[in-house]
Amino acid sequence: MDGNFIPQNNDQNRMPQGQVNPGNPGQPSGPMGNAQAGGAYGQGGPTGNAQTGGAYGQGGPTGNAQAGGAYGQGGMNGAGGFNPGPDPRQVQAEIKKTRHSWEVPMYIISILAGVLGVGLALLQFLLDGDMMSGITEAIDSGSLDVPGPLLFVLLTFGMSILAIVSGITMIILTLLYIIIILYQLYADQMCYSVKVSEKNYPEIYKKVQEFSMLLGMKRPPEVYVQQMNGQLNAYTSWVFGKPYIQLNAEIVDVAYLEHKDPESVYFIMAHEFGHAYLHHVQLKYIFWSFFANFLPVIGPFVIMPLLSRAREYSADRVAQALMPAYKGEEAMLLLIGGRHTYKYLDVNDYLQRINSDHNGMEHCARWFMNFLSSHPIMPFRIVALMDPRKKSGRMI
Ligand SMILES: [Zn+2]
Repeated sequence: MDGNFIPQNNDQNRMPQGQVNPGNPGQPSGPMGNAQAGGAYGQGGPTGNAQTGGAYGQGGPTGNAQAGGAYGQGGMNGAGGFNPGPDPRQVQAEIKKTRHSWEVPMYIISILAGVLGVGLALLQFLLDGDMMSGITEAIDSGSLDVPGPLLFVLLTFGMSILAIVSGITMIILTLLYIIIILYQLYADQMCYSVKVSEKNYPEIYKKVQEFSMLLGMKRPPEVYVQQMNGQLNAYTSWVFGKPYIQLNAEIVDVAYLEHKDPESVYFIMAHEFGHAYLHHVQLKYIFWSFFANFLPVIGPFVIMPLLSRAREYSADRVAQALMPAYKGEEAMLLLIGGRHTYKYLDVNDYLQRINSDHNGMEHCARWFMNFLSSHPIMPFRIVALMDPRKKSGRMI
């Protein structure tokens, strides 16, 4: 790890006596060393470490003020008054108002599509199988010596029982399939990731505690870091009893190297917290919407991507509620431009060029790209992040 970023117990990085450091976001500060990260509103303690500063925290009067404490109060020696930080109730109330307006309707539509899809699959199974031809042959050959009306009742009854048994089997197999995939993903963390803890990535660990507290999550999600050969990405998933988050190491590097920009990393993590908080990754949520995939073409290529895009906007809003002072579009520029040059990009120029430098045919191609995508395309997502209206975000 680069020793310049948020070092622990390093004398060289202590703040001078009585000095207050306003901690500009993501910028090294402190004349006698680094109070890097600083935190959006963090203030270094007058003595001792002011590591990370804390998003809203203030360093204590003496000694360590590591992370600052999300709600810490300090500044005994004139180092700055009381800053209580965001109220968890306010954050949660804000989130209730910001879920994307399409998400719940699309979730209901996905369940209805699932019922239709399973129904169609069962019908196809019952009508296309050898069973029907067997019955027809039996009737034709006269081996089924039963009166017509009784035969009709028996057949209807038999088919209904078969449909119910097949349906239950299909549901159980789907459930098992989802559970196996979920545990396979989790096993990947246990095999190839570093778990964020007080010792490993302690700054991220403290932010996990802060976000969990703000969201009222009794059990903070586990967070893992795994190198992914350059991919700038992160995801959230779930196994019984706990959600967890994977941050690709390439994202985490942004906090520790070159730009020393922990806020962008925290925002991406906050987005993943959004998925966990809104239950997007829990088995019951996945289970009920999953069957929409059984509806040919429309399920997997229209309904599921629409639901997924709405969820992404909702998760972005949670991230904004957790980090109101951070401009989320910067994290998106990081994902587009890469971790070295994103700091030099101009978001307004990006949006202007992407929207005005192309003809109708090209825009049509972009429209399809978005339509089939699980995530809103970047221009739409960035515009939504910059849009003060909540629940917004272009879907199609
Ligand atoms: Zn997401």
